Amino acid sequence: MDALSSQANLAGYKSVLMAANELGKIFPLMMTAAGTIQPARVVIMGAGVAGLQALGTAKRLGAIVEVSDIRPSVKEEVQSLGGRFIEVDTDENMQDAGGYAKEASEEFLKKQKELIFKHVTNADIVITTALVPGRKAPVLVTEEMVKGMRPGSVVLDMAVEFGGNCEISEKGKTVKKHGVIIIGEPNIPSLVATNASEVYSKNILALLEHISKEGKVELNLEDEIVKGALITHNKEVVQERTKSLL
Ligand code: NAD
Repeated sequence: MDALSSQANLAGYKSVLMAANELGKIFPLMMTAAGTIQPARVVIMGAGVAGLQALGTAKRLGAIVEVSDIRPSVKEEVQSLGGRFIEVDTDENMQDAGGYAKEASEEFLKKQKELIFKHVTNADIVITTALVPGRKAPVLVTEEMVKGMRPGSVVLDMAVEFGGNCEISEKGKTVKKHGVIIIGEPNIPSLVATNASEVYSKNILALLEHISKEGKVELNLEDEIVKGALITHNKEVVQERTKSLL
């Protein structure tokens, strides 16, 4: 019933195809009589559901893929898919009980930016998927980094709807800045609508089955899923995150 995951998975796949289409290069190493073509270098920021799918897709197309995340626990997942993990050395605990990222400190983000600078400026494609639930997306790719990228390189900012991981991406637009193509498509799952609807309808069915008995909705207010999803009940706002925002 996890709609975020089912849609992010599709977005991760499609993002690679979109970025590849904008790039004037192919992905794999090719040795031909006319010379050797070097493989494309892809950097992915955020190794959640979307980032891991993007990694797998870019790898299958033949690119060299490097991945950065603030949760050290994803290192093994990245490596098992053939990615290189860009590790930020830290003592901070970056993960909450649900497995999601916590908001990183200013000091951590500064260290991370310094570390990823050379990876980003050496990349043909940068795909950013970094989100912190309930917060604005962290800015990871600065204008300075974009200036350092080779002309014709591509940045795809999947977090554009939540403020953007790239400082100069524009929501709903593909723009060229400092010679770099920056894609700011806010709703990538809608571009693969057939599959997005297939899996979303399965999510909704699973949720309805969970909250009903013999065809009738029966809410168990002690259930973690019901508690998390129910916004109002008996004329009152009951969901904790919504309440805290009001
Ligand atoms: P998300 O879309 O909220 O975030 C994407 C990624 O961005 C995460 O991996 C996060 O660590 C990363 N990120 C945040 N700040 C960053 C920064 N400064 N630099 C680099 N990366 C940064 O996450 P998601 O894809 O929905 O899920 C993330 C994880 O949550 C999954 O891998 C899984 O372990 C867990 N999860 C749990 C459930 C559940 O039912 N509890 C469901 C889905 C996922």
